[in-house]
Amino acid sequence: VEPRVSPLKQKASISKVKNIVAIASGKGGVGKSTIAANLAVAVAKTGAKVGLIDADIYGPSMPKMFNLEHTQPEIVKEDGLELIVPVENYGVKLLSIGFFVDPNSALVWRGPMATSALKQLIHQGAWGELDYLFIDMPPGTSDIHLTLVQEVPVTGAIIVSTPQDVALADAVKGISMFTSQSINVPVLGLVENMAWFTPEELPDNKYYIFGKEGCKKLADRMKLPLLGQIPIVQSIREGGDYGEPVAIHSSIVGKAFDELAKNVIE
Ligand code: ADP
Repeated sequence: VEPRVSPLKQKASISKVKNIVAIASGKGGVGKSTIAANLAVAVAKTGAKVGLIDADIYGPSMPKMFNLEHTQPEIVKEDGLELIVPVENYGVKLLSIGFFVDPNSALVWRGPMATSALKQLIHQGAWGELDYLFIDMPPGTSDIHLTLVQEVPVTGAIIVSTPQDVALADAVKGISMFTSQSINVPVLGLVENMAWFTPEELPDNKYYIFGKEGCKKLADRMKLPLLGQIPIVQSIREGGDYGEPVAIHSSIVGKAFDELAKNVIE
């Protein structure tokens, strides 16, 4: 008996995506989602077609960061399949579990629920043609990470960390997970977030609040590229809170994300 929808067809929506890049961190709160949002926007600014999946199932923050908090994606039917149409802002096509559930209730989801939600976003998303599909992963190393690599051909992973020792130790765990035999996804490089503090009015001053160049040293040690160093800047936090990623601007911080984007696409 023929299955109603062939598995091949089910995966058709992702087949026109050229690169699938997971954005991960070992530790929570290091700015992974902030980097993912701004990187996606900066890559879109280069003219590339960009999608972003908020798979940070336990704390989806993308709807807020993209000023799409009260948006509901449209569901369309195509060849008997229900597809979820990503919502677009700042040139990025976005799907987040936050569009469907109250972020507070997502917190208590058990692993299997979160995993099946992620599968839906990937395979039922009407992504169309994309050059890059970024996936903002949940922090840490979990079943969801394993599911992701089993479900889709992930091109590579980017690891975000602060230069602080405790964050770096967890970043190493993240790197080991991706490069382990069972997962086997290349790590494209590291991003050092909160690399230093620069007051907006004193852009040349650097205060190394979380330590100096921890990610750079780790990248050197592990022979991985350091894709970018992003300072702590008030406007980065504000951009997240107000749904206006700083990467849309050509300010000093905006340019730091342009530089990161350039290193990622190369
Ligand atoms: P994660 O996804 O790793 O949990 P978030 O992206 O949610 O981390 O960031 C945690 C907090 O730190 C947020 O309030 C965010 O606005 C802020 N933040 C992240 N990166 C920076 C930065 N470079 N400068 C200022 N604030 C930042």
